[in-house]
Amino acid sequence: MVQQPKVYAITVFDGDGIGPEIMAPTLDLLRHVAGSFGSFSFDFKHVPAGAGHFKDTGEALPKASIDAARAADAVLLSAMGLPSIRKPDGTEITPQIDLRFELDLYAGVRPVRVYPGQTTPLADPRAEQIDFVLIRESTEGLFAHMHEGQVHDDQEATETLRITRRVSEKLFDFAFRLATQRAKKFNRTAKVTCVDKANVFRAFWFFRSIFFERAKAFPEIEADAAYVDALAMWMVQKPWEFDVLVTENMFGDILSDLGAGIMGTLGLAPSADIGDDAAVFQPCHGSAPDIAGRGIANPLAMILSAAMMLEWLAAEHDDQDLAKAARLIDEAVGENVVAQRDLTADLGGAANTIDCAASVIANVDKRIVADGFSDKVA
Ligand code: ATP
Repeated sequence: MVQQPKVYAITVFDGDGIGPEIMAPTLDLLRHVAGSFGSFSFDFKHVPAGAGHFKDTGEALPKASIDAARAADAVLLSAMGLPSIRKPDGTEITPQIDLRFELDLYAGVRPVRVYPGQTTPLADPRAEQIDFVLIRESTEGLFAHMHEGQVHDDQEATETLRITRRVSEKLFDFAFRLATQRAKKFNRTAKVTCVDKANVFRAFWFFRSIFFERAKAFPEIEADAAYVDALAMWMVQKPWEFDVLVTENMFGDILSDLGAGIMGTLGLAPSADIGDDAAVFQPCHGSAPDIAGRGIANPLAMILSAAMMLEWLAAEHDDQDLAKAARLIDEAVGENVVAQRDLTADLGGAANTIDCAASVIANVDKRIVADGFSDKVA
């Protein structure tokens, strides 16, 4: 009897600006890989949200789209928002942030990694060893009341930062569990660093106290803490010493772009927003309106985000083929980046979005053949 492929329901947000340009080839890659393996397939459901949708309908993130995200096995989300489309209070449309609140996606996972042999802006040869994960809390901190900031009489503005024990405990446990997995993978002792400003703000002292409370449940992991300003400097001076960093929402927002900077481009920075019941995968970058519509955006951050989705689904559903597919995509991207093969302009190349993605597909095919899946390659 022919085994039917396991079908994964993926809700897709195409986004704004370069969003649809990098999503389309990423879905092509996923379809292609599924066709090659034969044991899994994807049911992609496209739903609306974003600045363009807000302009057309007055709604940035329709309830039906949230429901579709909640019902899916996983969500793929491309870049959203446009500086030219704003709400009356001057803020941008940010459904990608609102979705984190709706689905309680408290752990924003942002890997910062340099492939051995890859060119980076850091001159130090140890830059090749950079491989750490920044976990950005994504449902509270300075973003907790982001739609409620006040400007009083045009003289004073206030925003509120919130840290809760409930979310912080879950966040730190997530960080310690991830560090445990990484320690196994790299065969070394795990380290988790809490990044805060506990010397000045009581909320961050509370955050740090909960961190060390939870650390007691993971005695095999080295737990330490650092102030965010010093850590920003170390991220340039010695990022190869980091393992897992865990921090508040706003600090994580800023530090993850710094992480992308040391990788050489935002176009290589993927992310996952994970909750207890849902997960959303999206590139760290925005909709890059300055290059939108020209077909030159780097699709690799979106592709690597899709690989993170496969890895997460593999663990959730105990699907070894998905784990293997994730690894092959990651290796193909790494090889292309190091060989400077078919890269886009942000990485010094001359390829367009489609050719860059097609080159990754060809490389994945080569690996599938080498791994003995040759009869299945489409
Ligand atoms: P947001 O606040 O929504 O994250 P942002 O203001 O940080 O967005 P981006 O849209 O991420 O801005 O763009 C920052 C810069 O990086 C721009 O010059 C943009 O062209 C570039 N950039 C972002 N993503 C890519 C990509 N995938 N390929 C090439 N360049 C990119």
